[in-house]
Amino acid sequence: MTRSFRSRILALVLGLVTAVLATTIVALVIKARAEVSREATLQLQSAAATAREVLKFRGNQLGSAAEVLTADFGFREAVASGDRATLLSAINNHRARIGADVVIVLDPAGAPLASTIQTLSAATQRDLAELIASDSDGELVRMYRLIDGRPYQLVLAPVLGPDPIGWAALGFALDDKVAAELARLLDIDVSFATDAAAGGLLVASSLDAARRRDLVTNAAAGATGPFAVRANGDDWLSLANPIRSANGRLTLVLQRSLSSAMRPYVQLRNWLLAVGAAILAIAIALATLLARSAARPIDELTQAAERLAAGDYTVQVPPASTAELSRLAVAFNAMGAAVADREATIQHQAMHDALTGLPTRAGITEFLDRLLIDSRRAGHPVSVCLVEIQQFQSIIGSLGHAAGDEVLGEIARRLQAAAGGGAAVARIGTDQFLIVLAVVDGAAAIRRAGDIGARLRHPFDYAGVSLQLETRIGIAVFPDDGASPAELLQRADLALFRAKESGAAVSVFVRGDDELQRHRLAILGDLRRAIAQDELELHYQPKVAVRSGRVVGCEALVRWRHPTKGWIPPADFVPVAERTGAILSLTAWVLGSACRQQRLWRDAGLALDVSVNVSPSDLADPGFAETVAHALAASGADPSALILEVTEGAAMRDLPQTLRIMEQLRVLGIRFSIDDFGTGYSSLAHLKRLPVDEIKIDRSFIQELETHATDDVIVRSTINLGHALHLKVVAEGVEIAAGWDALARLGCDLVQGYLVSRPMPAADFSSWVAARSVGPDPVSATHGVPVRLHAGGPVG
Ligand code: C2E
Ligand code: CA
Ligand code: CA
Repeated sequence: MTRSFRSRILALVLGLVTAVLATTIVALVIKARAEVSREATLQLQSAAATAREVLKFRGNQLGSAAEVLTADFGFREAVASGDRATLLSAINNHRARIGADVVIVLDPAGAPLASTIQTLSAATQRDLAELIASDSDGELVRMYRLIDGRPYQLVLAPVLGPDPIGWAALGFALDDKVAAELARLLDIDVSFATDAAAGGLLVASSLDAARRRDLVTNAAAGATGPFAVRANGDDWLSLANPIRSANGRLTLVLQRSLSSAMRPYVQLRNWLLAVGAAILAIAIALATLLARSAARPIDELTQAAERLAAGDYTVQVPPASTAELSRLAVAFNAMGAAVADREATIQHQAMHDALTGLPTRAGITEFLDRLLIDSRRAGHPVSVCLVEIQQFQSIIGSLGHAAGDEVLGEIARRLQAAAGGGAAVARIGTDQFLIVLAVVDGAAAIRRAGDIGARLRHPFDYAGVSLQLETRIGIAVFPDDGASPAELLQRADLALFRAKESGAAVSVFVRGDDELQRHRLAILGDLRRAIAQDELELHYQPKVAVRSGRVVGCEALVRWRHPTKGWIPPADFVPVAERTGAILSLTAWVLGSACRQQRLWRDAGLALDVSVNVSPSDLADPGFAETVAHALAASGADPSALILEVTEGAAMRDLPQTLRIMEQLRVLGIRFSIDDFGTGYSSLAHLKRLPVDEIKIDRSFIQELETHATDDVIVRSTINLGHALHLKVVAEGVEIAAGWDALARLGCDLVQGYLVSRPMPAADFSSWVAARSVGPDPVSATHGVPVRLHAGGPVG
């Protein structure tokens, strides 16, 4: 989940304040610690010097006391007498007066005569004797001494009578009392550490018993410089001063508690923490306010954007408190207006055709919907006329898209003029228009459609070319043919299909056409199966040279032997297949089959051109050249004996694509023929652009030639122009001998028609050719041709 803007601001402010406070406090504590230990070090060092001074002063006092003692007459008498009891009472008297902790009297050799300590250890006696022995000048000696493991400040003075008669040793003990006095004086803790006789550590100290061991143990064992020690949850700074003149390890240890030194800083830190907490609380309050006021315009914008997204274009964002947000608000409002504008445009575009300005299918459906509601209430009929412009594709193919656009504009104008007031005109497909006639019944609609057709047929000029538009119109009437726009459109479409099939200009919807449509769809399903299960078969119709009468080739025509419906003629399933795309597999099958047959004939010594019909969809298929190449390769047929028949309209539909495919296939040696020549829109002029080898003049022109038996100008000029372009000219649909004669006279190259033979199965074809060649010489016969009608073709 993304964090909100508000919580980000809060986090930022709190983070900043906390970081600043924490850094300050941590820095302060670190600095304080450094400062405190520096100061403590200095204090310890100066305390050490002071302590030594104090001890030295005590030493001097002790020295003076010793001089006084040894100068005392009574004392000297007592020493001279050697009487132990007298001596002992004398030294006890003096000790109390001087304040010394220990007094020992020794003979000149260093042996103890009397001592305030009851029993002196042998080690101490030896030590004292050595001291006296080493004293060459008999002067007073000051020193630190361990006596029986206890530290003392000791003074050794000779007793003169006037010759030395003995020695007096006076000592101050370095005990807890001294340590406490020094500590009081120096304001730090003072300890004396010595090695006890047993090897352990003996300590005299101002510290209490609990801390004493930890601290002094560590301190005395460590280095001399100041160092920190941790004891009883407290940090101490410790300084050890070894007293080197002693007869054993004696160390003066000075210690300072850092925690107590830190106390003022800790108070400061706590105070800072309290202030920080207060600042933090204030920051939280401020940041919350800030976040709220910063987020409010954004919340407003968000709500506005949500309303805009929901389609409310009236929404306006009020100007905000900051310049940036104000600009954003202005931009947002402008955007809202622009979106509203654009949506209106898009809505219009969706409902209207950009080229003609007419409503689209969606637009007219909406209109029709409303009209039908009103008409049902009023009991009025409504007629819808579906107008399809013929040859529109070939106009685009031959004259280009600009011409197509111009033609559409002209059509729109004429349709609107022809439909008249009260009618609505829409463009619902590339070349399809819909005219909705309110309060017009079927009979009136047919008349109006006739007018419309006539108006469109009126020639008009495009760049010097005179164009004449043919239309087919399908009519459906509300309420008889359909109750909804969708139903009416579908029925009008069926009526249009009927018109195209029957060749009528106008056709109304006929009940049962739905059935027909369903039947066609059923056929289509069957066709896929038929291709897979080899129910199709090719029949071949010969093409004969007019001059020699020789069979030079044949046209492959597909037949379907349906298991239940019997023979189905190609006219019943080829157009359906063409409309649904099933044609691609049909053509592939025909090509394969025709190529195999051509190869069989060639192997049997029969060299024949085989023509195969190609549909518009085949030419639009980018893989078509490959399909053909595959059929040739798989069968081993001769590519130069394969002719592909293409109608003009199909070739012109997408001229660049057609040319591409033709070029690819011509490289293999394949030839092209223009089928049904003369029925399409384009003329020989356009033909020049196509790499074709042959034209087949459409049956309708040939049959006219036959019935009138006249020198028809169209056929003659077609043949002449074909020859001028070096094309072979074929006449198809020749049924009677008179036609043959006329064609021979006009110089036609090849003839195909029932006169020669109906299409026949491949097996019949070779015997037909054989029978023909043993007959009388065709050229010498009357009218130049031997006619043997073949009755074998199942379809006529
Ligand atoms: P089309 O290509 O114009 O083929 C010639 C049609 O005219 C054939 O009809 C043929 O039997 C017929 N015919 C030949 N001589 C005469 C005559 O003297 N008088 C009359 N009245 N008719 C004659 P069919 O075989 O029924 O084919 C009809 C159409 O079906 C063909 O017209 C072609 O457009 C299409 N067709 C046929 N086979 C195929 C095919 O394999 N593939 C494709 N795509 N279309 C095919
Ligand atoms: Ca043909
Ligand atoms: Ca034809």
